[in-house]
Amino acid sequence: MIELLRNAELYDPEPRGRRHLLVAGERVIWTGTSVPALDPALEVRERDLEGRRVIPGFIDSHVHLTGGGGEAGPHTRVPPTALSRLTTGGITTAIGVLGTDDVIRTTAELVTVARGLIAEGLSAWCYTGGYHVPPVTATGSVRGDLVLIDLVLGVGELAISDHRSSQPTLEELLRVAGDAHVGGLMSGKAGVVHLHLGDGARGLGLVRQALECSEIPAVVFNPTHVNRRKGLFDEAMAVAERGCTIDLTAFPVADGEDAWSAADGLVRYLDAGLPPARVTVSSDAGGCLPVFDQDGRVSAMDVGRPGALADTLRELLQAGQPLERVLPAFTSNPARLLLLAQKGHLTAGADADLIVLDAQGNVRDVMARGRWHVENGHSTVRGVFERLERR
Ligand SMILES: [Zn+2]
Repeated sequence: MIELLRNAELYDPEPRGRRHLLVAGERVIWTGTSVPALDPALEVRERDLEGRRVIPGFIDSHVHLTGGGGEAGPHTRVPPTALSRLTTGGITTAIGVLGTDDVIRTTAELVTVARGLIAEGLSAWCYTGGYHVPPVTATGSVRGDLVLIDLVLGVGELAISDHRSSQPTLEELLRVAGDAHVGGLMSGKAGVVHLHLGDGARGLGLVRQALECSEIPAVVFNPTHVNRRKGLFDEAMAVAERGCTIDLTAFPVADGEDAWSAADGLVRYLDAGLPPARVTVSSDAGGCLPVFDQDGRVSAMDVGRPGALADTLRELLQAGQPLERVLPAFTSNPARLLLLAQKGHLTAGADADLIVLDAQGNVRDVMARGRWHVENGHSTVRGVFERLERR
């Protein structure tokens, strides 16, 4: 199937002006400013985008694809994230993680759920392990999972500075990071340690120690949730300067809370003049967003939503941020960190993962691997069980 998308205001994520795009199968094969002459025998479909902004699909580097949670008992385990909830939120690439629950949830299950999403037209990868050390794996080691399982890109979300963590020591963190790095080298993958940061006052202390005392490159350490506390965010900006890529979570932030929203955090990061490629935004979709009391018991909970990335981008645009300034954090930056060469840009040869924005900056249409999944704000492709539910 070949489709010509006419009159896109293209951001790839650099602003390219008015362009036409030719999509063949799952790839973008050409972009240009004048409509190409195409043989009618090709039966090319055409769609006029009428000057709407077209951006690469979001790469969400932190999704609880199997569902997360369970921190207030078995009935609080979050169900798996449905295909259309991802696509209507503009997510065309999802990286699955396990969190607190790496007992009932397993790497094997996570890999399989990612494969299911791929079969349904999305792009998906995952991390091995979860909050705890030694990390739970499918093959018996982090290195083994990276080398032998194509979809495993690294290890995580490994918890530090959190009462739910294994209270890992520096040596334990270094052992995991070394395994991830070497497994990444052997498999040609990123081999990062995606680090869950809790509310603990120790913050990024372990990461700073790891940077000071080991040979492991800074890029291996990839802390997330760093906007959950303002002091932690300042620490994160400092490690970004030293080579780490930091990840902001698009969770809801109440007025007066000691946290930055992902939108505020991203603007602060960019305004500080830090390397613009070393910051990403993820949704934590399907994860439990618990509030704990002083005894470490859940006093309230919410669930991370896949729509949070789209909401964050719209918030940034409405605050007057230029699209090209903030877009890399949702697209090319995670692609670069995770070595996903086909993702995060819309040049010839890239995967045809794209979002058409409406005038207000909302996700209007979404194409994933060359197929329209969302049109006019409504999902047109649904997962198997979503289709059954509608009967
Ligand atoms: Zn987490």
